[in-house]
Amino acid sequence: MAFNALWLTDPKTDTDPANIVQVDETTLPHLPVTLRVLYSSLNYKDALAIRAKAPVIRQFPLIPGIDMIGEVIASESIQWPIGKLAIVTGWGIGEQYHGGLAEKFTAKAEWLTALPEGITPTDAALIGTAGLTAMLAVLQLEQQGITPEKGPIAVSGASGGVGSFSTWILAKLGYEVIAISGDRHAEEYLVQTLGASSILPRSELSESGRKLQPERWVGAIDCVGSHTLANLLAATQRNGCVVACGMAQGLELTTSVAPFILRSIRLVGVDSVYCEVAQRNAAWQRFATLLSHSSLPIPYQTIGLQQAIEFAGRLLEGDIRGRIVVQTT
Ligand code: NDP
Repeated sequence: MAFNALWLTDPKTDTDPANIVQVDETTLPHLPVTLRVLYSSLNYKDALAIRAKAPVIRQFPLIPGIDMIGEVIASESIQWPIGKLAIVTGWGIGEQYHGGLAEKFTAKAEWLTALPEGITPTDAALIGTAGLTAMLAVLQLEQQGITPEKGPIAVSGASGGVGSFSTWILAKLGYEVIAISGDRHAEEYLVQTLGASSILPRSELSESGRKLQPERWVGAIDCVGSHTLANLLAATQRNGCVVACGMAQGLELTTSVAPFILRSIRLVGVDSVYCEVAQRNAAWQRFATLLSHSSLPIPYQTIGLQQAIEFAGRLLEGDIRGRIVVQTT
C-alpha cells in the first residue's frame, strides 16, 4: 500500500529535490517493526536536509525526519506488540535510513523506546532530539556529582532547542541557571517561562579569552562550542563539569590544560544519536517524572506534512520561534 512521505532526491541532479509524494510500502527496508507515524518534528538538521543546505543525507532518495513517534501496526518482535506506542530519535534515521516525515516507518527493535506513561505523543514530538540531548546533558552533570547546592550552571545557546530544554529541566530540578544568549528579546522567555535566574549576553563569551578566569559556575551545558566552550571551561569552579553538546558557534576548541590540571574540571561530551538504550530510557523516564507535576513550557506549533517544506525554509531563515511538531497522519 502507498503512503504519503516527504521525499528527497539528489539536489546535484534534480532541480526539484523535495516533494510530498505517494511512496509504495515496499520502498521501506524490511525491518522487524512497522509503525504508523503519529508525529515527527522539524529540527534544524531536517531543515538543512530538506532545503539541501548541508550534506545531512548520506544516500538519495531518502525520507528525512530525525524524530518519530508512532504506533506499532505490524511486528515480528515480541517486545513490540501491535498497538504499542514508541519513540525513535537518532540511529541515523532521516540521514542514512528513511526517517519520520512520512505516514509509515519501519524500524529495528533496538531503535524503539517505549513512550513512558505520562508523556503524550505530542509531548514526545515536542521533546524530540533537542529535549533528549538536554536531558542526557543534565544526567551527565548529575553523574559527575554536580548537585544544585554546589553552585550555578551556565547554559549557552539558551534560547535554542537544546538550550531551552536544558534551562527548563535544570530550573525544575532546583539549579540556579545562568542563561547565555545572544537574543536581546529572550529575557522574558528565559527567566519567566523557563526559570533561568539570570542572563549573560553571549558576546561576553564569544571571543577568545584568558585560559583561566575567575570562577563563575560549577557546571555548564554548552550548545555552541568554539570560544564560548573555551570560556565556559576557563570560568568553571574547581571540580566542576562542562557538558559539550553542540557547535552553533563552531566546531573548533582552543583552550589549554589549565582548567583541567589546576582546577580538576571535567569536560564531558553528549551524543544523542547513537547513545545507549539504557541512557535513552533513563532520559525519557526523567521527562515522565518531570511532566507528572508540570507541563512543558516550550512554545511550539503543529503543522501538517504538506507544510514541512515551507517551514524548513522559514526555520533556516530564523523566522520561527519554538519547536515545530509535524502531524503526519
Ligand atoms: P538551535 O538552532 O535551536 O539553537 C542554537 C542556539 O545557539 C541559538 O538559538 C542561539 O541561541 C545560539 N547560537 C546560534 N548561533 C550562534 C553563534 N554564532 N554563536 C553563539 N551562539 C549561537 O539548535 P539546537 O538547540 O537544536 O542545537 C544546538 C546545537 O547542538 C547545534 O550545534 C546542534 O547541531 C547540536 N546538537 C547536538 C546533539 C547531540 O547529540 N550532541 C543533538 C541535537 C543538536 P541564543 O540566541 O540564545 O544565543
